[in-house]
Amino acid sequence: ESYLNRLRLTEPHLKSFLHVSDSVLREAQEVDRKIAGNEAVGPFAGVLVGVKDNLCTADMPSTGGSRILEGYRPPFDATAVKRVKDLGGIVIGKTNMDEFGMGSTTEDSAFQVTSNPWDVSRVPGGSSGGSAAAVSAKQCMVSLGSDTGGSVRQPASFCGVVGLKPTYGRVSRFGLMAYASSLDVVGCFGSSVADAGILLHAIAGQDRFDATTSKQDVPNFIPHFAPVSSLESKPLKGLRIGLIRETLEDGVDTGVVSAIRAAALHFEELGCSVNEVSLPSFSLGLPAYYILASSESSSNLSRYDGVRYGNQVFADELNSLYGDSRAEGFGSEVKMRILMGTYALSAGYYDAYYKRAQQVRTIIRNSFKEALNQNDILISPAAPSPAYKIGEKKNDPLAMYAGDIMTVNVNLAGLPALVLPCGFVEGGTAGLPIGLQMIGAAFNEGELLRVGHIFE
Ligand code: GLN
Repeated sequence: ESYLNRLRLTEPHLKSFLHVSDSVLREAQEVDRKIAGNEAVGPFAGVLVGVKDNLCTADMPSTGGSRILEGYRPPFDATAVKRVKDLGGIVIGKTNMDEFGMGSTTEDSAFQVTSNPWDVSRVPGGSSGGSAAAVSAKQCMVSLGSDTGGSVRQPASFCGVVGLKPTYGRVSRFGLMAYASSLDVVGCFGSSVADAGILLHAIAGQDRFDATTSKQDVPNFIPHFAPVSSLESKPLKGLRIGLIRETLEDGVDTGVVSAIRAAALHFEELGCSVNEVSLPSFSLGLPAYYILASSESSSNLSRYDGVRYGNQVFADELNSLYGDSRAEGFGSEVKMRILMGTYALSAGYYDAYYKRAQQVRTIIRNSFKEALNQNDILISPAAPSPAYKIGEKKNDPLAMYAGDIMTVNVNLAGLPALVLPCGFVEGGTAGLPIGLQMIGAAFNEGELLRVGHIFE
């Protein structure tokens, strides 16, 4: 009840949700009834979970933030959603997002713009802006998002919450609307490292409906979240941290640089050694990402033909039915990505763009591997600036894309990363949060969570 009340109060200002479930109270009362009757309940019983609208939910609309799926109700739950529900979790609603995950502000949702709870004139980040804002404003306890190039980590940073991007293949993508399949991963938001880690534990692991999920065991992260007794005892002694030099150079806000440098000092106080590492290929991540992500999306989005799902525009001829349904159903950012991707994949340009971007991806992956041989964890900002004003970058897509510089490399390398608040800069009424990004070796989310919990 208290969450629903808070939601009613805050939602007119924030617009984090595209749909709020009408069965929340009933489900919660059912938990109360079971507990009163000494019946077994799952570990997530009564936990209110926000779900990004590109994750399919059987009993609710799932639009992916797009008009083309308006009114679509999938006949099944995404695996990540199903796993949380099976443990007793209650889906409170579907959160707003940039259409199909394409965007960094949530302004590219077909339905509404979400505001940042720290300052409603600012963006919450994106594309999982609704999920981040909802946790930040305590409209739900935890939430699910997706991260193709930073869509969990950048909004976590802008909204001052914890965001976790798991290793590629750690969490099933079954029921996640595909944006760029070689980069997409379902991620977690929480108001603490423990909350995000407990949610990951619930959703992670192999799934027979997604052949790209890893067979690797999911270790029990929960013991990492025990109370930290004494920071004086240097609980992180011996840990080698690499601060990525290229992420603190030109174009990064000075407030962000000082917050990250302060975080590095805090790591030293905790017993770590912190050294700068150079990743010379770092700046290549952005062009390589935008070519690969657009290319994959141009192929993935071909399924929205007005026949199989969602909105259909009536036409007397098949090609116009496809064309008109897509022209009406897709927003301008999505259309631009489809055009860019189709161009990059077309004969004559494939070698110059797509193939080269794949080669760059290999270079980036190798340079991370090398840096993670010398360091246990790499750190950087999660974004080059704090949350900016709504409308500020709306007509300048390149400026918006440039804001993804800190996150896209991690997706290209398939690595796990944890973002957590590490300071504030002036702005809004109470300051604007800054997020620290910690990058770990593949399938080593446990170490990121352990270290993040102690740091926090
Ligand atoms: N902002 C990036 C993009 O538009 C990343 C989005 C995401 O991770 N889904 O592609």
